[in-house]
Amino acid sequence: MPAVRLDGKSCAADLEERLKIRISNCKVQPHLAVLIVGDDPASHVYVRNKIRSCERLGIKSTHIEMPAETSQEEVEKAIISLNEDNSLHGILIQSPLPSHMDEESLTDLIDPSKDVDGFHPQNLGRIVQGRLDGMIPCTPAGVMEMLRWAKVDMTGKKAVVIGRSFNVGMPQALLLASKGADATVTIVHSRTVDAQAECLSADIVIAAVGRPEMVKKDWVKTGAIVVDVGINRVDDSSRERGWRLAGDVHPEVAEVASLLSPVPGGVGPMTVAMLMANTVTSAEAQHS
Ligand code: NAP
Repeated sequence: MPAVRLDGKSCAADLEERLKIRISNCKVQPHLAVLIVGDDPASHVYVRNKIRSCERLGIKSTHIEMPAETSQEEVEKAIISLNEDNSLHGILIQSPLPSHMDEESLTDLIDPSKDVDGFHPQNLGRIVQGRLDGMIPCTPAGVMEMLRWAKVDMTGKKAVVIGRSFNVGMPQALLLASKGADATVTIVHSRTVDAQAECLSADIVIAAVGRPEMVKKDWVKTGAIVVDVGINRVDDSSRERGWRLAGDVHPEVAEVASLLSPVPGGVGPMTVAMLMANTVTSAEAQHS
């Protein structure tokens, strides 16, 4: 039987309905600032999606665009003034930044209570402590929300996370292993000796690698649950635009998995929805 689709779009729509209620009960209108530096076309698309999502939910958004040649100091000044703006509840710096910039030190500068991406060391550190009531990185938080929405029981299950980035893989592994989720977690990375064997032993596979369709049918145990975080642009001359989006999981995995998230329409919409959720949480916390 082919895998059931783990439909991130529907899960995000459900979450949005719950957010609308929280926003209507919030003492202030949540307000998100999105700062983008440079002219990377994909980043501009992502920013537009985030702004549209704000509009749909009634979250105020401020869109700040700076040219690619902006200096590190100018971006630092912009972040400091956003930190000081009491009308703002969330600050997001769209990644990637131009190569002359030190992204890590800019993240460190964001007020942790407004760090809706959840990338500030204080927010990432809280996850290690099991304090999950703060700003959790949106993509792994979205994956957890999707798994719970689909009523996946993670307790005692063997989960394999492919990828160990600070923004996806690592926090994902911590969330799966956290109390309440209770999975037993293995992290696969580029130095893992036999990634296929690790995946084959898993009940739950989360692929966050950035390698198109790397996880094949013979990597996945029959009945396993597979979440595809990957978003990769691959050449496709059959398409008018000359490319298509591919995940990190090959579509043939649907023949063996019990549940599989699609690309697009899986983790992507959940990431944006969790960004909205973090913004609302920040507004509620500042005005409680
Ligand atoms: P990243 O920072 O490049 O990390 C990729 C990870 O994959 C690294 O830890 C790397 O290991 C590991 N890796 C690379 N090649 C491998 C291999 N052959 N075998 C096993 N592990 C390997 O990427 P990321 O930011 O985590 O993103 C991963 C993917 O998710 C990308 O396609 C990205 O576009 C997508 N993404 C999607 C969303 C969404 O909203 N859907 C959000 C964020 C990211 P090492 O550490 O050893 O190098």
